[in-house]
Amino acid sequence: MNNKKGPQLFKGLALYAVIFLVVIAIVSSVSGGFFADDQSTTELEYSDFVLYLEKGMVNEVIVKENSLTYKGKLVDGTAFVVSVPSSYDAAVITEKYLVPLSADGVLTVTTVKASALSGLLGWLPTILMFILLIIMFRSLSGGGKGGVMNFGKSKARMTKGENKITFEKVAALEEEKQELAEIVDYLKNPKKYKEMGARIPRGVLLVGPPGTGKTYISKAVAGEADVPFFSISGSDFVEMFVGVGASRVRDLFADAKKNSPCIVFIDEIDAVGRRRGAGIGGGNDEREQTLNQLLVEMDGFDENSGIIVLAATNRPDVLDPAILRPGRFDRQIVISTPDVKGREEVFALYAKGKPLDEQIDMKVLAKRTPGFTPADIENTMNEAALLTARRNGTIIHMDDIEEAITRVIAGPQKKSRVISEKEKRLTAYHEAGHAVVMRSTEGGDPVHQVTIMPRGSAGGFTEQLPQEDRYYATKTQMEEEIRHLLGGRVAEAIYLKDISTGASNDLERATKIAHDMVTKYGMSEAIGPVNYSDADEVFLGRDFTSKQNYSEELASKIDAEVKSIIEAAYAETEKILKKHKKEIERVAEALLEMETLDQEEFEAVFAGTKTIEELKSADAERFAARKVIEDEEAKKRAEKEAEEAKAAEKEKLNGVRVAILDKDGKFVVKENEDSAEDNQAENSEESSEDNSENE
Ligand code: ZN
Repeated sequence: MNNKKGPQLFKGLALYAVIFLVVIAIVSSVSGGFFADDQSTTELEYSDFVLYLEKGMVNEVIVKENSLTYKGKLVDGTAFVVSVPSSYDAAVITEKYLVPLSADGVLTVTTVKASALSGLLGWLPTILMFILLIIMFRSLSGGGKGGVMNFGKSKARMTKGENKITFEKVAALEEEKQELAEIVDYLKNPKKYKEMGARIPRGVLLVGPPGTGKTYISKAVAGEADVPFFSISGSDFVEMFVGVGASRVRDLFADAKKNSPCIVFIDEIDAVGRRRGAGIGGGNDEREQTLNQLLVEMDGFDENSGIIVLAATNRPDVLDPAILRPGRFDRQIVISTPDVKGREEVFALYAKGKPLDEQIDMKVLAKRTPGFTPADIENTMNEAALLTARRNGTIIHMDDIEEAITRVIAGPQKKSRVISEKEKRLTAYHEAGHAVVMRSTEGGDPVHQVTIMPRGSAGGFTEQLPQEDRYYATKTQMEEEIRHLLGGRVAEAIYLKDISTGASNDLERATKIAHDMVTKYGMSEAIGPVNYSDADEVFLGRDFTSKQNYSEELASKIDAEVKSIIEAAYAETEKILKKHKKEIERVAEALLEMETLDQEEFEAVFAGTKTIEELKSADAERFAARKVIEDEEAKKRAEKEAEEAKAAEKEKLNGVRVAILDKDGKFVVKENEDSAEDNQAENSEESSEDNSENE
């Protein structure tokens, strides 16, 4: 399977060699023109040059070794350049003709050695053009990262000791750390395991969504064990030329063997490790070769050779089963999004080094962010810092982080979008519908925020604050979720007597849940507890490859079941919203007046304990109080910046002397005033010196 590699690589190199030669030819034919001296240089005919020499009109000749071109100066100062016809031997002319003349004192002859540097300079254009071509070719071939001369080199980056990450620095992955601790221990004391005859896994597959810290924890394993860390991405193996991937794999493992014990980390292993023979046209030769080579290498190294391969993927379902066989990646560790406790830790981690208000409650932040990965949380804290800086604040407040979270979930506010009154009313009733249905659900999570401020692509936004992370959903919970989603549409229909396109995303999500209930979770009585969902989607979109593994008849039965679930939920939602007419109207009115209601405000409006006027004035008070804090911070910042600027200015002008024309037309040098006061004594001497120089 690898015999293709040789010729292919050779072909590639030959192609580059040809380009290289062509470029040299072009450049060397043009470079005369390219590098001709400036226009004041006269080009002499060789015969004229000889004539001038004989008449003693040449002052200086510069002879370059191994060159047929002389440069020089005539007696009147004109610079010239002359090319010796190629039928002559320049060395002979120099020896026999010029040197004797210089000995007679007629002219100066300087011999310049063709130094390595000047040779290099001559090559510069060629090299530059070659580099340009390489860049062009690389972008054509899909833009890898390595140099062109090392096609088959692994591209893996080896790190050791630099910015060492240890388990201590990994937040929120306690169980995962424990599972990997065994590997660390093995790398530290391989002898112990050898003596016991234990087989340590060669490969560990880290499975989890993007951003959960798979790379980070892998680095931590290497850091903790204090061994080299080779990292490469699966997509680095796959290149334009067939055979390159396989050769890179070989190279990578050769490097690893030299540096064992060590960790080899392959990110996105699904890029090479997809099921073979799948996809259009029976699969990809290059990828299969690469995968085969990877498997060969993993089988090939000794069980206790000290190389541990960690690989990360978020699609374990598409991996070739051969990868998961014993002796290869036979251990899987699931790196999931952190739970509420984990998120609190991650928030604390990324809060380090940022000036935070004391009142910030990490617990609330953690609660508000189910499903956030550590990367999302990092992004949130960064967003909060940016928001604070934008308002010229000095400390990050809870409000800043809350707004950052909402931004990460729903996108930034679109304050400038102009919305007609009619559309605003529609959104208000729609969101009120969602919120009231959520609020009326027994044991449901509280409504954390309702807003008709457009964000991202959404016209409005209703957010619940989950009281706990959920890992399973019951049938009742799924039905409730469908009702929450339908709440918007139903409210439009009941209270505005018309329906809008604003609910399309809600309906899509509701339908998906109902469909999953029927085909995935066996929650429909008519269909029974059977899973008809198709997990066999391999690397094309689901629509292309997923094949229905059920009959037309069953398909229509499923559709009917989905429809009946939605319809039942719709009827139920209608009932709830008709019963809460007053609440809906109050919430919608409040939204129209205030645009955004937080948890407390929503509760008050829903229960009718406060009027909109009361809420508005409380809101205004809070806004004013916040404004005072923000203004204070902005003022403090401005003062600080002004002080810093002044200090910097002073620093800059320190010791600067300014030359001024006096009335006699003489330059007088004056010391910068500030520094003159400070350093008068030490500078007086210097400045008088300068003074005389300037006159
Ligand atoms: Zn909606």
